[in-house]
Amino acid sequence: MNILSDRVNNLSESATLEMTRLSRKLKAQGYDVINLSIGEPDFNTPNYIKEAAKTAIDENHTHYTPVSGLIELRKAIANKFKKENNLDYNYEQIVISNGAKQSIANVILSLVNPGEEVILPSPYWVSYPEITKLAQGKIVEIPTTIENDFKVTPEQVEKAITNKTKIFLFSSPCNPTGSFYSKDELKKIAEVISKHKNIFIISDEIYEYINFAGKHESIAQFDFIKDKVITVNGVSKGFAMTGWRIGYLAAPVEIAEACDTLQGQITSGASSISQLAALTAISSNTDTSNELKEMQKAFKERRDFLIELLKNIQGIKINIPAGAFYIFPDISYYFGKSDGKTIIKNSTDLCLYLLNEVQVAMVTGSAFGNPNCIRISYATSKAQLEKAIKRIKEALEKLI
Ligand code: PMP
Ligand code: GLU
Repeated sequence: MNILSDRVNNLSESATLEMTRLSRKLKAQGYDVINLSIGEPDFNTPNYIKEAAKTAIDENHTHYTPVSGLIELRKAIANKFKKENNLDYNYEQIVISNGAKQSIANVILSLVNPGEEVILPSPYWVSYPEITKLAQGKIVEIPTTIENDFKVTPEQVEKAITNKTKIFLFSSPCNPTGSFYSKDELKKIAEVISKHKNIFIISDEIYEYINFAGKHESIAQFDFIKDKVITVNGVSKGFAMTGWRIGYLAAPVEIAEACDTLQGQITSGASSISQLAALTAISSNTDTSNELKEMQKAFKERRDFLIELLKNIQGIKINIPAGAFYIFPDISYYFGKSDGKTIIKNSTDLCLYLLNEVQVAMVTGSAFGNPNCIRISYATSKAQLEKAIKRIKEALEKLI
């Protein structure tokens, strides 16, 4: 008897978390695994943020908070949007959740009826299609190419829209490609979408601070589209706070209230202690925190370092990521090749081959909608990256 619901039976395990689970398992068996699969800063949370959490505990901030979060934090986020992104939001439009992942789930589950369509520029982040499936929405992918820096054009967006389209969901800087949409590119996409009055945009800006291209741009900055945009962000990546589980969204009031109702029946308000730590993180000016500046600098250096290393491997095609901490190379050159034991048919085979042969964990591009690529996370030290690429090169040279 099948005891599980169709909902769960149709759901895939998060591919990013799955590879991390597999690499932890191999590590526990004594293998020297290099984990380039998980997307999280290898840096620790800065001390001034940790101190705020310790104070929160000592001062007994250990009770339930309002479902949408502490008003001080929602106000601080509204200030951040004004100061850094020139976006006007009232604190009532802000909802704090247990990570940006929950923020995205809140919005999709609040907006999508069964059969309504969610447009995803592909490659997309692994959880977007799975959350859409949970809402019984239909996924409409727009494929992009490495030659076009994995970005969609306004014409492609126009073509993907139907009378069932409800949401256009994208990230910039993008996970997994690192691509970054300029102000002009965002404006053109916004112009196309604004012609259709029932379509909302979810703009996932979780990699805002890990951006080597210059000033971050939010699609909500254009007045003609702002009341159709839900901007999602969080402290996981920019402040090295993945384990604290704080994400947030800014939305039209009706949508923010729907997210509050939904969240109130599932998880309630996020951890009070984490919210007070996030308050310190968000209220502090990121430009003046040395620890965060060091982190951003390190990511850029590692990106450049990794690109140079990858250039020495035959058959790999790369674009230059402008942000986040991933590279998404095309490795299809190796399809059909074999080491005498295993034939590599696709990127999942290649990932498993590299994990089993040389214990380097990465994530298959298939999970992000592009089976020709693999995702390499460079949120690890240069020494580890060098060691990993040496191993990968040796393993790939065995494939003929
Ligand atoms: N969006 C993207 C694009 C991500 O890479 C992540 C990473 N986990 C998230 C959202 C969710 O982040 P979190 O739930 O840790 O805030
Ligand atoms: N966003 C990260 C990643 O893509 C963390 C893992 C996850 O939440 O899926 O690897």
